[in-house]
Amino acid sequence: MTVLSPRTLAEACSAAASNPNADLLAGGTDLMVEVNSGHRRPTDVISLGAIAELREWSIGEDRITIGAGVTFAKIASGELATAAPALAMAARTVGSPQIRNAATLGGNLGTGSPAGDSLPVLAALNASVVLTSVHGQREIPLSEFCVGPKRTDRQPGELITAVRIDRLNGPQEFCKLGTRQAMVISVVSVAVVADTSSTSVRVGLGAVGPVPLRAPEAEAFAAEAINWSGQTSVDTETCRRFAELVRDAARPIDDHRSTAEYRRHATGVLAARALRRIFP
Ligand SMILES: Cc1cc2nc3c(=O)[nH]c(=O)nc-3n(C[C@H](O)[C@H](O)[C@H](O)COP(=O)(O)OP(=O)(O)OC[C@H]3O[C@@H](n4cnc5c(N)ncnc54)[C@H](O)[C@@H]3O)c2cc1C
Repeated sequence: MTVLSPRTLAEACSAAASNPNADLLAGGTDLMVEVNSGHRRPTDVISLGAIAELREWSIGEDRITIGAGVTFAKIASGELATAAPALAMAARTVGSPQIRNAATLGGNLGTGSPAGDSLPVLAALNASVVLTSVHGQREIPLSEFCVGPKRTDRQPGELITAVRIDRLNGPQEFCKLGTRQAMVISVVSVAVVADTSSTSVRVGLGAVGPVPLRAPEAEAFAAEAINWSGQTSVDTETCRRFAELVRDAARPIDDHRSTAEYRRHATGVLAARALRRIFP
């Protein structure tokens, strides 16, 4: 097996152009599991760990740019956690401290699993994905990037270089349900974020569809129901109706982790819980 270890983004793009079918290696917490279990037999690997540009982030007035190589440990605390609290909450649920120190946001997107914990938050925060190759850069909405379970729009020779998300002014929440509290793959995950400036509420759903989903009817209902000018809080009836609308937006399937029926029910429970937490 050939392992290339470029030092710069330009070198990585050249390596990816010369070896378009090479496997890109970031933290290795998905890729090496596949290699060790015999599901993937790479012939060429391009290791991205030495590229400093991929580990940078910047927090702008309206948008936050996070390099693909930023780990969940970095996202879970500090200024990124203050700027994107729901993403930090999701990051804190990923694996264990060892996994979070290695696992990257770009790797979560590269795998593109419907159960990837960053994905519902990225959906709620109107994320776009920046892809770079020797031919230049393109930026596409998350909804175009994720095309199916573990299928993305990334083309051979392209690297995910960054993710851009909205910086909102308001409370955010992420709730995840699995068979345990820790080290668990999501059966359902729900992100609810509010923006007091635009008086809007956004919902992202994970593990209940082939790609991360939004819940537009529930979002419109919540935006209407919340008294933005007063002390923001929600009553029981608002939570109940919100839960119903979020549940209706889910498109779950039966699999070895859960039945579709249980996933649909749990989606509503988590949605109401998240709304109650952000508007107590
Ligand atoms: C014990 C354990 C627990 C876990 N728990 C969770 C969990 O709770 N929640 C969760 O969401 N995930 C979990 N995971 C899965 C994994 O940690 C995440 O998906 C992680 O984000 C993968 O990132 P990585 O940097 O390790 O990616 P890698 O394994 O290096 O790569 C993953 C995929 O993305 C591609 N890729 C990586 N970087 C790029 C790039 N810059 N451009 C293009 N393609 C790229 C790779 O080629 C590969 O196909 C767990 C894994 C393990 C082993």
